[in-house]
Amino acid sequence: MKVSYETDLYARIRQELDAVAMIDCHEHLQREREFPTGDDVHVGLLFLHYAPDDLIAAGMPMEEMARVRPNLLLFPNPEADPSLSPEARWRLLEPWYRKAWNTGYCEALRIAIRDLYGIDEFSESTMTKLTEAMRGEIRPGFTRKVFDKAGIDFAMQSPLGPGLVFNPDYNFDCFICDMCDAFTGFPIPELAQQADMDILCLDDYLKVIDFYFERDARCACAFKVARAYDRTLFWEDVPKNAVENTFNRLLAFNDRPDRRDIQALEDFILHYLCRKCGEYDLRMKFHTGIHGGNGNIITNSRAALMANLFMKYPKTGFDVFHISYPYQEELAVLAKNFPNVTVDFCWMWIINPSAARRALSDMLDAVPANKIHGFGGDYIFVEGTYGHAVIARREIARVLCEKVEEGRFSEAYAVELGRMLLRDNALDNFGLEKRRAAYRPRAGEDPPPAT
Ligand SMILES: [Zn+2]
Repeated sequence: MKVSYETDLYARIRQELDAVAMIDCHEHLQREREFPTGDDVHVGLLFLHYAPDDLIAAGMPMEEMARVRPNLLLFPNPEADPSLSPEARWRLLEPWYRKAWNTGYCEALRIAIRDLYGIDEFSESTMTKLTEAMRGEIRPGFTRKVFDKAGIDFAMQSPLGPGLVFNPDYNFDCFICDMCDAFTGFPIPELAQQADMDILCLDDYLKVIDFYFERDARCACAFKVARAYDRTLFWEDVPKNAVENTFNRLLAFNDRPDRRDIQALEDFILHYLCRKCGEYDLRMKFHTGIHGGNGNIITNSRAALMANLFMKYPKTGFDVFHISYPYQEELAVLAKNFPNVTVDFCWMWIINPSAARRALSDMLDAVPANKIHGFGGDYIFVEGTYGHAVIARREIARVLCEKVEEGRFSEAYAVELGRMLLRDNALDNFGLEKRRAAYRPRAGEDPPPAT
């Protein structure tokens, strides 16, 4: 059946969007040398994250999900059951997958297995074929192959370890990496050891932060803060002398400051990081809005809690992830008001495709278009990135069509705007061209030959 939005206008705009080599604004993809092999490759890999959140929310017992999932180096899972046959593994997932079939998370997986593995639907009868197809494809080179099929030029990558701050061991061909905020978590011995510096007081700690910025900030693409999972995004402006004692207690043997004192120390450090990012012109990316996994405090993560930072640090750029969903309307106001705030739709097109569409439509009526980053897969496995990219292009094309049909945009402008959302804005706002050139040698690649 032809769906209602597939008009001739949609087909033309979609074709133009499909031709844009996207900058993927956010991923956590596996290193190819970390790919599982042999019997460890199975459908459980596609349930490493996101879709399982919906299956568990639908009622699937956590321990059953743990049996299905793989046990990987970066994602240890002692409850994994390697003895399951492909069919038996699917039989555990199936009742819950059926209940959550409707969500964007599940749709992204179906698109991925259809286009990458030639399988239309997860079922017991397709499981052996799917498993064999995965075993045939998942090997070094797969990431680039999938990026090409998804129309992704390269991705801004947030590595999950092993280095605390910067892991430039992702190939230049597909990636540029974030600096990650390890600093507000105070892994003091590890930070000191990786910097080869002593930390005996708060001033030493700030010097270590300076060291990492001086070493890494020019070749990273952004500075990622993911603290919305375990605290409020309101960062109070605390003077140094109010937290020095807390820091000293952290250093002391057999002492532990109170949680509230530690939070004040985190606040102080985060403000320091805002200053450093401004100094190095390194845009900060904040996780805001919905949390991955099951169960958290959503009001901790609304972007509006950070308005004091946006105001105090006008030279620091703030990229607000996941459109702060479900607080996207607040974010539209923040991005409309503050020159240093940009909107990032990463993860969003699979969280809720129709809410994402409504939000983009709203923002295109209110927020300057150069401040919106249209796509980031935000997956650990690249098949998910693919499914997400297809949904993003479809939904963005629908919104652009709507604006043309309403007479607000010309068709030519809609196409130009699509290119800004998927590519140009990220290149400009994160300064990616010069950062990629600085990242290249850190990733072990030679500079391009002089011409
Ligand atoms: Zn992420």
